[in-house]
Amino acid sequence: MEHPKCDVTVLGLGRMGSALAGAFLAAGKTVAVWNRSPEKSGALAVLGARRARSIGEAVRASPVLVICVSDYTATMDMLGREGVADMLDGRLIVQLSSGTSGEARMLAAWATARGAVYLDGAISAWPSQIGTPGASILVAGPQGAFDSAAPLLRWLAGGLAHAGPDIGHAKALFSAALAYFAGHWIGFSHGAAVCEAEGIDAGRFGEMMAALSPVFAEDMRHMGQVIATRSFGDPESTIASVGADIARLVDVSREIGIGTAFPGFAAATFQQAVDAGYGALEHCAVVEVLQKPGSGQGEHR
Ligand code: NAP
Repeated sequence: MEHPKCDVTVLGLGRMGSALAGAFLAAGKTVAVWNRSPEKSGALAVLGARRARSIGEAVRASPVLVICVSDYTATMDMLGREGVADMLDGRLIVQLSSGTSGEARMLAAWATARGAVYLDGAISAWPSQIGTPGASILVAGPQGAFDSAAPLLRWLAGGLAHAGPDIGHAKALFSAALAYFAGHWIGFSHGAAVCEAEGIDAGRFGEMMAALSPVFAEDMRHMGQVIATRSFGDPESTIASVGADIARLVDVSREIGIGTAFPGFAAATFQQAVDAGYGALEHCAVVEVLQKPGSGQGEHR
């Protein structure tokens, strides 16, 4: 590898990539940037970024490539270009585009076969949070590679953490968190719909739930331990009792004239667990139903 001129190259200057490049610049790093649509590098050039005229020039410019494009297909559109793959030998690639753990493993195999060191990360932050202590980035890959990249990557997120050596684990943990948030967003919104149908201000509901958040934090730790050790047999509430409450929420929703999609899905899932013989177990034993490959089939169109 010829002597690079910059500390880091950022490939992809959408909303997130631009924020990443901006944080490196704010930290005083020399930053090369490239984007498929070149006009997006203009604002960063004003801040001192070096605009590469080609992807090859961008890759050559630095020992570290931080990639943040739409997905892994877009990443391969860039790295797989003629001549570019040959330049990866000895470089560190930090892939921060969204994707699956399987895609992370495939890209890692492809990149390491070309002599690159590969780290794969997941960003839990809005672009405006990048470069602040509140931003979180989880990065998977070899410990040594993470340790050497951490001083640079910490400029992007105060909450930088190592997900472990399995290259798929940053994306896997991100997917797990997204599953939680899917329920959180839909569940909260259904609760707000109940409130509004009853003439209660949704803001008041938000305050009430926020006050309960320390209890939820404890419950998440508890559920993690109970599921990890499969110790569902000492419940404070059971699948059968929680399932009956959720089934009642379907009736409540109908009675007040709002949709039943979310409680209907939740009630059906708990009913499946009761039918499978888990009714007397702690409510998070519903994982036994959700883990079965066929469960919920036909729900997603
Ligand atoms: P965005 O604003 O839509 O930007 C997408 C970027 O991908 C652009 O630079 C685009 O280039 C590039 N791109 C798409 N297809 C390409 C291809 N075939 N070849 C080369 N470049 C291609 O998206 P974003 O918000 O920056 O998100 C980027 C990644 O960060 C995504 O994976 C997203 O899930 C993740 N992320 C975003 C946020 C967020 O709040 N924005 C938060 C966490 C994670 P052009 O400009 O030429 O179209």
